[in-house]
Order: sequence, then structure tokens, then C-alpha cells
Amino acid sequence: MPQRVLLIEDEADLVETMSWSLGREGYTVDSRTNGADGLERALADPPPDLILLDLMLPDIPGTEVARQLRSHPRTRDTPLIMVTARAEEIDRVVGFELGCDDYLTKPFSMRELTLRMRAVLRRATPAPTAVPEGRSEQLTFGILRIDAPGHRVWVADEEIALTALEFRLLTTLFERRGRVQTREVLLSDVWGMNPDLTTRTVDTHVKRLREKLGPAAVHVETVRGVGYRFQDRPEDAG
Ligand code: CA
Repeated sequence: MPQRVLLIEDEADLVETMSWSLGREGYTVDSRTNGADGLERALADPPPDLILLDLMLPDIPGTEVARQLRSHPRTRDTPLIMVTARAEEIDRVVGFELGCDDYLTKPFSMRELTLRMRAVLRRATPAPTAVPEGRSEQLTFGILRIDAPGHRVWVADEEIALTALEFRLLTTLFERRGRVQTREVLLSDVWGMNPDLTTRTVDTHVKRLREKLGPAAVHVETVRGVGYRFQDRPEDAG
């Protein structure tokens, strides 16, 4: 099954180039030239496997489109790459705060785009289970419960919604409990190689993850000047 890409972009020449290139790479591309139509298509069937979103749209700002995509259950986990002409760090941070999985600044090469898309799609595919046979697939740590194959997380029996990236950040920290992970290591292992990203990206996402974890956030410790560490044992929470 070819993967379906939704391109929300108002520049006709870019839509044409990207659709042609992505089609040649084997993707099925749907495009919409404004935010409202893009949102409508994103929520319709068949669902897109990945969304490419321009920041500057004629009707609704791309940031608002991203916010709406992330707040809807149908699209909250859909890989989302923001595409923008503006290169400022502030946009990148805003993009990640809104739950975008990656960020591309115009002009970019089609090769760069397809590499990023493949990386984001790979991350969105749940990793094969590492749970030994015969054991429950759910891991419990204090009030936190993680179903890795099912891609679900509960805090005190209440399910919380994490983006694919937040889930990967949480499980990466969790798998390496008790060991400090530097921002650089997390960037490389959670985000993959992306020279545009800075260590601030990690801080932004850890902040979002902690907000969602609520009372279970105590298990994710900041190690000043180094990075982050998931506690070794739930009792370690003060
Ligand atoms: Ca635009």
C-alpha cells in the first residue's frame, strides 16, 4: 500500500514540484491550498499517513492548523512536518511545541524532504515488542503504565495522549532508567540525525511530556548541565 501524504501548501509551483517528486518516490499525494480545506481533508477518509504543512497559508496560520490536528483524536498521532520560509529558531520551537515531528525550511531539496519523511514515518511505526513471551505487554512504574506495542500510556489509570515523538522520548528514557541521557544522545536516538535541530528541542519536548505526565512527571529528572534521567525505581520519587 503506498503511503498517503497530505500536502497543505498554497504555492502552486511548490505543490506541483513536491507532488511530482513524492509521486515518483511511490507516495500518493493529496494537496490542499489552504488551512480549512487541509484540515477537512486530514480528518476525512482515507486518513493521511503523513502531513506536510506550510506555515504561511492564506486563511489560517499553519500553527493553528497544527494545533487543531494535534487536538483531534484522528490526527493527533499523524506524523506532521512543518514547512516554512522563515528560518528563525522561534518558529522551530513553536512548531515543536505544537507537536510537529520535524521542520523543514525553504528552500529544501526533494532528497532532504524524502529523507526526513522516511525518518518521521519510521519513528511513527510502533517498534516491535521487546517484552519476553508470556509476560504482560504492559509495564508498570509507580502510577505510570506503558503499553509499548499498543503505543498507549496511563497515569493513575487515566490514559494520556502522547504524540509519536513524545511516546518515543518517554520509552527511550524509560528503557534506560537510572542512566543519564544527554540532550545530544536523545536528539540522535529519538529524533534521528537532523542538523537543523538544537538541544533546545529536547528541552521543549521534555517540558511537554512532563505536562502530560502530570504527577508521574517526577520520574523524569533533570540532571543539570547534562540532560535527563528516568528514575531507577518508582520509590525514588521524593
Ligand atoms: Ca505559503
